[in-house]
Amino acid sequence: MKDFLYVRPDDTAAAIALIAATPGAKYLGGGTNLVDLMRENIEQPDLLADVTHLANGIDDLDGGGLRIGAGVKNTAVAGHRAVRERFPMLSQAILHGASGQIRNMATVGGNLMQRTRCYYFYDGAANCNKRQPGTGCDAIDGFNRIHAILGTSASCIATHPSDMCVALAALDAIVQVEGQRGVRQIPFLEFHRLPDDTPDVDTDLRADELITAIAIPALPFATNSLYRKVRDRASYAFALVSVAAALEIEAGTIRDVRLALGGVAHKPWRALAAEGVLRGAPATEETFRRAAEAELQDATGFAHNAFKIELAQRVIVGTLQELASERGGER
Ligand code: SF4
Repeated sequence: MKDFLYVRPDDTAAAIALIAATPGAKYLGGGTNLVDLMRENIEQPDLLADVTHLANGIDDLDGGGLRIGAGVKNTAVAGHRAVRERFPMLSQAILHGASGQIRNMATVGGNLMQRTRCYYFYDGAANCNKRQPGTGCDAIDGFNRIHAILGTSASCIATHPSDMCVALAALDAIVQVEGQRGVRQIPFLEFHRLPDDTPDVDTDLRADELITAIAIPALPFATNSLYRKVRDRASYAFALVSVAAALEIEAGTIRDVRLALGGVAHKPWRALAAEGVLRGAPATEETFRRAAEAELQDATGFAHNAFKIELAQRVIVGTLQELASERGGER
């Protein structure tokens, strides 16, 4: 690992000034991904500005929303009473990720900034446009079981690894960031990028900008929500496919819905096509199937991951059925 300076700025303004003045510097959250990447020499920052002691609160927003500081640990979010009661899919998503030890270290801001777990990205001998732009993508003709089926490009077919971010995408969260040019509120769906021809750029964040908080707007029917994850191992494995869903049913008709997928794209995938089919339709298995088909109609499988197209549809249907029946979607 390359030598680097470690600094713990006193406040957000000092952290931003330090990063802006130091080329090659990075913010440090829990380090559960960044330090791994540094050990592999994939990331080689000259300076780390530790921001884990900044923005550590979870506060109520008007009407039932929540503002979660970027430095809050994943475990604290998952166990927070308001999160469990108002947004159970978010608590469940976090608890489906990584291990207890990692969740105790990982921060909310760091969760958004984690990079893909594509095997070739971590292999310095492989061709990888995300790690080294212009070198190619060994995953496209290689072993691509964990890779994307939606929103891929000829440059990259990697997936975003987060579980928490899938729930935040479904919940229309806002990413609050601060940099030398001031404060920005970035809609969650615009924060992460599809690969296009620049897969090395994961997010909309500018180099000096720091994530300070996530705002989750009130969504009363999110009390009826679920996170479902299919993976190769029962624990400590990334999603092959995951689904975050909230469902509101009135007199047998779907009044409103939020649906997002994980493990299928370069970013958490909001299932807007499926939501369009679901809203106003009867809450039946047939409707759920039509919605799932609509969402996956443009999916493209590769040699080892085409199974994800059918799997994603099945997990969508199963999750919605569970919400509609056992979980009492009727209001
Ligand atoms: Fe690199 Fe993306 Fe290809 Fe993986 S899928 S090898 S991350 S370019």
